[in-house]
Amino acid sequence: LSERLSGVFDRLTKQGALSEDDVKTALREVRVALLEADVSLPVARDFVKAVQDQATGQAVTKSITPGQQVVKIVHDALINVLKGEGEPGALKVDNPPAPILMVGLQGGGKTTTTAKLAKRLTEKDGKRVLMASLDVNRPAAMEQLAILGNQIGVDTLPIVKGEDPVAIAKRAKTQAGLGGYDVYMLDTAGRLSIDEELMQQVEAVRDVATPRETLLVVDGLTGQDAVHTAENFDERIGISGVVLTRMDGDGRGGAALSMRAVTGKPIKFVGLGEKMDALETFEPERIAGRILGMGDIVALVEKAQETIQAEQAERMMKRMAKGQFNMNDLKMQLEQMIQMGGMQGMMGMMPGMGKMAKQVENAGLDDKVLKQQIALIQSMTKKERANPQLLQASRKKRIARGAGMEVSDLNKLMKMHRQMSDMMKKMGKMGKGGMLKQAMK
Ligand code: GDP
Ligand code: MG
Repeated sequence: LSERLSGVFDRLTKQGALSEDDVKTALREVRVALLEADVSLPVARDFVKAVQDQATGQAVTKSITPGQQVVKIVHDALINVLKGEGEPGALKVDNPPAPILMVGLQGGGKTTTTAKLAKRLTEKDGKRVLMASLDVNRPAAMEQLAILGNQIGVDTLPIVKGEDPVAIAKRAKTQAGLGGYDVYMLDTAGRLSIDEELMQQVEAVRDVATPRETLLVVDGLTGQDAVHTAENFDERIGISGVVLTRMDGDGRGGAALSMRAVTGKPIKFVGLGEKMDALETFEPERIAGRILGMGDIVALVEKAQETIQAEQAERMMKRMAKGQFNMNDLKMQLEQMIQMGGMQGMMGMMPGMGKMAKQVENAGLDDKVLKQQIALIQSMTKKERANPQLLQASRKKRIARGAGMEVSDLNKLMKMHRQMSDMMKKMGKMGKGGMLKQAMK
């Protein structure tokens, strides 16, 4: 993926400006690249669409090539999709004893992850944990959990031969209550693929335990298959989160993106090895970086954006201190707002944030209005911009016509300028008292 994207963006880099066609061409390649990274087709398609809307019309940061800018936009959009609500890695384990149900296919890493998580809850959160293996199918599966329990110093439910999974779950619940445990973890059996028997068994266990957390453990290397697994388990059992294992391997983590998009459930942890401490809180930034593989460019763009913002802020502060605020200053402010309008697009992509994006739009802060206001300013002469008092009736008509708008629109803009100018003057005066200097640091 990384190589492929490098190729695309190199090509863009050599061009001066990023046209809509350039964005489209680049994103078509991004789509192919995402598919190669095991992102599912509909997810890749939706993602690219959202990024396209977002990228088109966005200003290119000074000293950054358009291609680099696109990398950053794709990267930020990836993070937004990967991010869930709430704190990453947080588990609902209040009201003891809190049951945690571990589900997934065989070999995905359920038993290993059960033990890793038990260790984490014990050591990091100071919880008393009881683990129980419900895997009556695979020989020695129960012993496997008992051995891990021994190794990490976490109790396991004594093994009773011949018990079915539901009976074991009931016994675990009773034992956890009597023994004063904070959490009990149910490690279920898996199949090589999803089947009816597996689902019925897990459903029965779920109904007995009413888990606070139902974690789906999936092999991060299985890519496309992992998505079907997630879809099925979420539909039948209802999962509260995902643990992606084998992220220490060289897979590209594309499964993370599709699972997040398909189930909407948070990815809570990633498994990074066979050892008991190889479990980490999921970090969207890291996975996004891995899917895209262009961390250097992203860092470069971030740095440039920071520098430019700091420079602009400083220039603005200096002018304010002198009580200056002309149409050029207003234009700069409007342009910054458009950059934030990019956030509106971002919000639209995040689950549950679509409504907020609408509100921003309704408040008249959408890009269209801002761009019209900028067009009006651009239609002014240099002199007029620096000195808005010059704007009398005939000039107003010319400017409005030049921007394809009405004089009333220009009047609104001028009113806004006056209000902001007054505000700036006030702030500028305060600045002489030292506050501005403070703010500039
Ligand atoms: P289960 O059938 O779902 O219970 O899977 P297991 O927990 O028994 O794991 C199957 C194999 O995967 C074992 O050899 C584990 O050591 C290995 N495994 C589990 N998680 C990880 C991981 O994050 N990274 C690596 N490299 N191996 C893992
Ligand atoms: Mg197992």
